[in-house]
Amino acid sequence: MAIIGIDLGTTNSLVCVYQDGQVKLIPNSFGDYKTPSVVHIKGNQVQVGKLAKNMQVLQPKNTAASFKVWMGTEKEIYLDGKTFLPEELSAFVLKQLVQDAEAFLGEPVTEAIISVPAYFNDNQRCATKMAAQIAGLKVDRLVNEPSAAALYYQTAQQKQDGVMMIVDFGGGTLDVSIVEAFQNIIEIVSVAGDNHLGGNDIDLAIVEYFCSQNDISPQQLSPEAYSGLLHQAEQAKIALSNQMATMMVLAWKEKECSLILTRETLSEICQPIFQRITRVIQQAIKNASRRIAVDDVVMVGGSAQLTVLSDFLEEKFRRRPYTAHSPDQTIALGVGLYAGIKERAEEVQDLVMTDVCPFSLGVAVYNRKDETIPHMSFLIHRSTTLPAVHTERYWTLQDGQQKITFRIYQGENYYAEQNLKLGEISVSVPADLAGKSWADICFAYDINGILCVSAKSCNGEVQEQTILNPKLKLNSKEMQRAQEKLKEMQLQQQTVQTEEQALMEKLIRLYETSSIALRQYIIEGWIEQYQQALESKSPIIKKRALQEISQQVERLQEVQESEISLSEIWKEQPDFDDSDIDDMQEDWQEE
Ligand code: ADP
Ligand code: MG
Repeated sequence: MAIIGIDLGTTNSLVCVYQDGQVKLIPNSFGDYKTPSVVHIKGNQVQVGKLAKNMQVLQPKNTAASFKVWMGTEKEIYLDGKTFLPEELSAFVLKQLVQDAEAFLGEPVTEAIISVPAYFNDNQRCATKMAAQIAGLKVDRLVNEPSAAALYYQTAQQKQDGVMMIVDFGGGTLDVSIVEAFQNIIEIVSVAGDNHLGGNDIDLAIVEYFCSQNDISPQQLSPEAYSGLLHQAEQAKIALSNQMATMMVLAWKEKECSLILTRETLSEICQPIFQRITRVIQQAIKNASRRIAVDDVVMVGGSAQLTVLSDFLEEKFRRRPYTAHSPDQTIALGVGLYAGIKERAEEVQDLVMTDVCPFSLGVAVYNRKDETIPHMSFLIHRSTTLPAVHTERYWTLQDGQQKITFRIYQGENYYAEQNLKLGEISVSVPADLAGKSWADICFAYDINGILCVSAKSCNGEVQEQTILNPKLKLNSKEMQRAQEKLKEMQLQQQTVQTEEQALMEKLIRLYETSSIALRQYIIEGWIEQYQQALESKSPIIKKRALQEISQQVERLQEVQESEISLSEIWKEQPDFDDSDIDDMQEDWQEE
């Protein structure tokens, strides 16, 4: 009767167990620790792992990979004439992992702990639990991937107390966490991430580059040829971690296409991806509720082995980040330690892990009776340490109002409806003049990222709701709409805008990415002030507001950007190398 820890990855999945005072990786039936998270379907036959991955090139239409990025959405995946939900495909992977673990351990697996990206929202966490349920596996506990990595790094390396930044760069996701360790307490200080950025994007960029250099369009290629080229791109990328150049070839329409890819070219191709990584790291620094000075930057995940990325980050940080040994195993080993904690193994029973809330949680409110678009009033801000409980009181807006309805949202946008709606709760209140009757709403967010909401009105009526599975609370249409919104949030809109719209968007962006204090005391005021100016009929008032607020926004942006230079995060100043001294001498000479 064993409890196992599972790293259910976008690209690869691994299993660990805590046994005889240590955490161990469990090999699959091929003797490999990594099982590709790939599913191949033929009739009623399902293949998972290495064999399925091999089929990906031969029969791409019957094979699914990277479906973790669709978890928690209504996306259906077509395989050999049947449709599957992402959680159903994940359930196949989980089943295979459990089977292999049982064969290795020689005993039944009763329970598992599964890791999820820290940046997974409630829907994605629920979908993961549903996948386990479909696979017939008991899962009480989900842990955040970077927290697991931090736990392993701290415990296995027997590191001294300090602050580390964990950068987990896998196949499909990027997670950055800042973690502080003090004695036996490991505290997650902040997280930031991008659920749609990983090593796969580098493979795609290489394919694009190959096609452009050979004058072919990727759309022209047959699915088989495309899939083969993508596989080659990944191989080339991996080869360039150890060598300076490699070659790709493709026979296409009686033409021999080829490319010599150098490390230098790869670095150039990757620049847009690296810029996105930098922004996520800066966001993690901003999200920390206190000023931090970092002792170590630790890279985990398969893509941490990318030499060009370490080179890039070294330049930014002015110190080379540490790449963990077998970085693609770190998370699984951490989840295995959690399994040990859960089993109350003696060696790890004193360890305390704290985590934070990755997204803010709040309700939709109106400030004034005539306001038409509700905005967020936050009860639990992102980066709050879990578990967190907060109560807030809200008053009626209309005379004779008999009910207060709280709409609950998760996300950072100023406008409530741009965030992910998790549910609704209503209580009745005594009819009275506006602003007389009230209701308290309480949010309790537990260590698994599950939200419990209760509302109590001034006449004593109480409502309670656990937002455990939004799929059961929302109908499928609402769910789809919520998901589309979340997707839109990640897309940069490229339409032509008026100056006024552009400023409003800038304000909203600034609101999303700024510290809680700045949000509450400054930016919220600007948004309200600007909104009122826009509602005014006087073009002069509008123009003045546009100019004044633009200037203020620019000034704040300048301050914020100058604040976060990655080379300034260290507890001790980095050692300078010769080129720095050259730079400094040049600066002196210029002065
Ligand atoms: P996930 O967390 O998405 O399941 P992993 O942590 O296993 O994934 O990382 C998979 C990614 O790592 C893939 O994009 C793969 O191409 C990449 N990768 C694996 N080995 C290397 C290497 N030596 N150099 C660069 N990238 C690598
Ligand atoms: Mg991973």
